[in-house]
Amino acid sequence: MKRKYNFSPGPAVLPEKVLEKVAKELSCYPNLGYSILETSHRSKIFEQILEATKSKILKYLNLKSNYSVLLLQGGASTEFYRIPMNLLNKEKTADFIETDVWPKKAFKEAKFFGNPRLAGSSGDRDYKYIPSDDQLEINAKSEYLYLCSNNTIYGTQFQNYPKSPIPLVGDFTSDIFSREIDMSNFGIIFAGSQKNLAPAGLTVVIIRDDILERCNEEIPSMCSYKNLVKTNSLFNTAPVFPIYFLNYVLDWIEEEGGIIEIEKRNRYKSQLIYEKIDQYEIYTGYAELQDRSIMNITFNLANQKLLEDFLKGAEMSDLTALKGHRDAGGIRASMYNAFPVAGAEKLAKYMDDFAKKN
Ligand code: PMP
Repeated sequence: MKRKYNFSPGPAVLPEKVLEKVAKELSCYPNLGYSILETSHRSKIFEQILEATKSKILKYLNLKSNYSVLLLQGGASTEFYRIPMNLLNKEKTADFIETDVWPKKAFKEAKFFGNPRLAGSSGDRDYKYIPSDDQLEINAKSEYLYLCSNNTIYGTQFQNYPKSPIPLVGDFTSDIFSREIDMSNFGIIFAGSQKNLAPAGLTVVIIRDDILERCNEEIPSMCSYKNLVKTNSLFNTAPVFPIYFLNYVLDWIEEEGGIIEIEKRNRYKSQLIYEKIDQYEIYTGYAELQDRSIMNITFNLANQKLLEDFLKGAEMSDLTALKGHRDAGGIRASMYNAFPVAGAEKLAKYMDDFAKKN
């Protein structure tokens, strides 16, 4: 069966080459005689995969060895509470920039452990923009400034990160490895795997040494970053499958020309759709121009009937999963790293045809 163009926000499209490779060797891993999924997470072969994955992650993010990489379970949502559990207590505060549902959830979880405060929010204009540095009120005494790099639901993205006197903590679930950008001011970077990395079930957490040093120790072992770093993410059974898959996705990035090439493609794909949104009155973009995401493109049509017709016609053209999130409405075209250029071109052409017909 032919693959459709899948605009799912996550779990999302994976590189076809990697899917094929994994399918081929799933029942019998080369030179092993059985599946990698039937192997101990403490085996030599898995240890090699784990180490290779960790070092490629740091390399692609241009980060040095003063960062530790953790490969964990529990989804990005677990980091919403694991981070404040490690870094806060009732006397300590952390600053948050509220730009989407996800940082809002993280803020709520932080209240269980400390006294989070809002340094900025784009809630006044329905999360259509990213607050600029001069709109932020950062408390220099806070432990960290939390932000969500790409806002999956509303389709906005930080173009640059705030100049902050305190370390940044960033949720990169929906745009990790999508572009070359300086991330060295981050004390913690984390991302759920189900968009740009691998199948669901893995969270990549990257933590800088000085932040690790500050982490609380009197907390449950599975929550303690110090313990998880000390045990090299193997305190309990690691999510073997998504880690193994991620290792190949990282090779795929290299084969495709590295992050530079991936970014070029992401900009081209998103630009194709933004051009159509701007060209035709029938479409209205959700995000404000300066903060548009290159991962999730959000827009609406003039009325419910047009929206339904658009979605129905798209399905018939094998353009699937374009319905927007209920909070933003309309259409959301999620085009992560593995989303093919041909799919973006096909959607752009469909938008042309639909606009001319209606
Ligand atoms: N952060 C962002 C930016 C997301 O888009 C999502 C979910 N899509 C999450 C966090 C939550 O991820 P998880 O379901 O892995 O907990």
